[in-house]
Amino acid sequence: MALDFGFHSPVEELHLPLLKEKNIRLSVKRDDMIHPFISGNKWRKLKYILKNAQEQQKQTLVTFGGAWSNHLLATACAGAKFGFETHGFVRGEEVQNPVLSLCKVFGMELHFVSREAYLDKPRLFEQHFDAKQVVFIDEGGYSSEAVQGCAEIMDELPQDYEHLFVGCGTGATVAGVSVGIAKHQKQTQLHGVPVLKGGDFIRHEISALGVDPAPIQLHTEYHFGGYAKTKPELLLFIQDFVSGTGILLEPTYTGKVFYAVFDLIRKGYFREGDHILILHTGGLTGFLGMYQKF
Ligand SMILES: *Cc1c(COP(=O)(O)O)cnc(C)c1O
Repeated sequence: MALDFGFHSPVEELHLPLLKEKNIRLSVKRDDMIHPFISGNKWRKLKYILKNAQEQQKQTLVTFGGAWSNHLLATACAGAKFGFETHGFVRGEEVQNPVLSLCKVFGMELHFVSREAYLDKPRLFEQHFDAKQVVFIDEGGYSSEAVQGCAEIMDELPQDYEHLFVGCGTGATVAGVSVGIAKHQKQTQLHGVPVLKGGDFIRHEISALGVDPAPIQLHTEYHFGGYAKTKPELLLFIQDFVSGTGILLEPTYTGKVFYAVFDLIRKGYFREGDHILILHTGGLTGFLGMYQKF
């Protein structure tokens, strides 16, 4: 089956009082609208992994994630849609939650492993699977194929922007976008917002994918205490933004990225007249793990 959804995710411009006051334009590339479960950057990262798997006639995908992983769910659903068997190694003791139930209903077989065993993913893979027939997909889809897929975001933009903001977990998405910007010889300044503490490690992860991190401006002070950690001001911002725009954010990734952009706008970081684009990387089922905070 063709590895395509047959449309490009739309770009939507926001009209909010702060933007008017500061004379800033702000648009959102709605990769969250690509698919409800094969969401956002997780689809971009899987696309060429699945294409290679089809070409090599491999029928099984094996991957890794935490209990709320957007990547596990995207892989489970993509496997169901494009005809692959899927296995997911889940970090930690056996638990039940809506995301893991969705993985199961899409046909993924889940293997819960201790945090120690989880550290050595190649070993887990080799112990259980035959690499000749089965595809190893790293946590979060981190791979050179992910870079190739995320670079395509730049093929789809209707116009130029002064700034483009991307959230970073492993850094594969921002690395791919950087490749796309270079390919199109755009002047756009690319910004990464790491959602983990100590986000400077992202530079190393980007280099390891063969991409120069130097042109990427990292904003490492918007992690709110670390991965999946929140603070009241982040939750208030999300409440305010979502109720004012109808665009859903969750606290783990997109909430932090949008917060960073609005904070920088308020602080006068941008020039008057600048047009900013934020990549909405999807992952909205993450909200289900945090719903009690709202
Ligand atoms: C996984 C994820 C990211 C992080 O992407 P990386 O390529 O690992 O940097 C960002 N946003 C959302 C919504 C995600 O699910």
